[in-house]
Amino acid sequence: MPPQRNEQGLRVAVEGCGHGQLHVIYDAIQKAQEENDFMVDLLIVCGDFQAMRNLTDLEVMSCPAKYREIGDFHEYYSGKRVAPVLTLFIGGNHEASSHGAELFHGGWAAPNIYYLGAAGVVQVGNLRIGGLSGIYKSHDYSKPHNERLPYYPNEIKSIYHVRSYDVFKLHQIQEPVDVMLSHDWPANIEHYGDKHRLFRFKPHFRSDSEKGELGNPPAEGLLKRIKPKYWFSGHMHCKFEAIVRHDGEGKQVEMKPAAVPAARNLDELDLGLESSATAPSKNPDELDLELDDAVENTAPVALKNPDEIDVGLDVVTESELQPTAASNSEEIVLGMEDIPETAPPLPPTQDGPSPTTNTATRFLALDKALPNRDFLQILNIPFSRPLPDNRSRTGLYYDSEFLAITRFMNAYPGNNADVVNSIKDLPPPDVAAGIAKEREWVEANIVAQGKLQIPQNFEITAPPYRPGEKPEPQPRPYISPQTRAFCELLQMQDWVAQSEEEWETKKERLRTHPPTRFEGRGGFGGGRGGGRGGGGWRGGRGGRRG
Ligand code: 5GP
Ligand code: MN
Repeated sequence: MPPQRNEQGLRVAVEGCGHGQLHVIYDAIQKAQEENDFMVDLLIVCGDFQAMRNLTDLEVMSCPAKYREIGDFHEYYSGKRVAPVLTLFIGGNHEASSHGAELFHGGWAAPNIYYLGAAGVVQVGNLRIGGLSGIYKSHDYSKPHNERLPYYPNEIKSIYHVRSYDVFKLHQIQEPVDVMLSHDWPANIEHYGDKHRLFRFKPHFRSDSEKGELGNPPAEGLLKRIKPKYWFSGHMHCKFEAIVRHDGEGKQVEMKPAAVPAARNLDELDLGLESSATAPSKNPDELDLELDDAVENTAPVALKNPDEIDVGLDVVTESELQPTAASNSEEIVLGMEDIPETAPPLPPTQDGPSPTTNTATRFLALDKALPNRDFLQILNIPFSRPLPDNRSRTGLYYDSEFLAITRFMNAYPGNNADVVNSIKDLPPPDVAAGIAKEREWVEANIVAQGKLQIPQNFEITAPPYRPGEKPEPQPRPYISPQTRAFCELLQMQDWVAQSEEEWETKKERLRTHPPTRFEGRGGFGGGRGGGRGGGGWRGGRGGRRG
């Protein structure tokens, strides 16, 4: 019998953080397919993907130097391996940042591996998937996208901080979305699941939660406005499930604390790759030593069989995912009487009706890809509408509404501080009318022309990694042929590309205005990493290339 397919929807594997571990993730999917006799149609990775093309890309990944590793991605980039399943990802806080910047509007990072961009919406078949890259930090939220290579150390950090510009774009969505993605969790999401159990596993989350500082407030605003059927996140390095009901306006419904399954012993720490009786008290594989990202090390894992690589895998069917049903092995029961104190106010959102009548959002966060972790879950997600005849069930398509939003917003270049500041003052009816006009353009010029399918136009730009290579101090800017083609498709200005001239100017600026010590600390995790941190901003080194 051939492996089962989900003809009326997609079988989606959801991964928390990628951290460069593509081989492990694809192996786990392969094993799940063999054991369950089904086909996975799509892999979604919720950030910290680490699409490093070579060692030079690694120089602008925010991370203590001792944790910098090239990872698996380059093998898929160079063509040595091909991703066995269509893979979609958003960015987190540990990324090949200049690679992501080159694909600001989204694009193929490698064949069959698609980046959603700083903010994006695409369709697989007709499953509508949106995402917001980065993590939220209030001090950078209102800034323009003005980081340019070579980066100052503080730019290496700010570049992955969520911008109001991108959130604004996602707020313009009017049509129902099936799946939304963010790297850090939507703020306050912990109140909609078993937070008591979460805080037992992750004690540091409790005080952050009590202060209202856990998670991403703009993502919360998006969740409550867009009301997608699913919202997936990573970043917190643990599995967490919640259900946000949208029927009772703003009402939080807390899950009853569930009994901790017997297999999970809170006194046992994660053993990471080398399971042994002499477990270290801290997991050396955690990448959480950044200054602005809180440090938290205990993980919600059990001592499991070290020979099994994918013990973190749960296969969940759609019927198990109904909001009121018990879900997989860790039973959570809606406790309607547990209604906690009022939520902190939501961030300002766009006016206008909410786009969907969907009554609940199923939230799922997963861990990172390490053995013995809950890093992967496979969901059967039905299409909300019948698949049109002219569509392939697993084909990747642009989203016409988001193309219209992109065309409208691109008239306000996101790298200009004044422009970015003024966007919040645009009268919502004008924005809506402007997008409606662009939608007509998209219907006539893209949809009617049969140009909605995303072209297979991946091209190698930066040289692929070669063992033994010596990294440059920082990557040079590459003008992405994909971004250029996308701007041509939408007949819009490309403000993303960094010209050779702009690069020279920035190099000169770094020579004449070297970063202060303070900036240096911010950029490289307080100098704790040591080693070759410090990256390429010093005049002499930066100027070596021509
Ligand atoms: P990274 O993105 O550096 O790989 O991982 C983030 C780590 O920091 C995870 O272990 C996660 O649990 C922790 N973390 C992220 N955000 C917060 C937060 O807001 N509060 C606390 N206490 N820990 C956090
Ligand atoms: Mn992260």
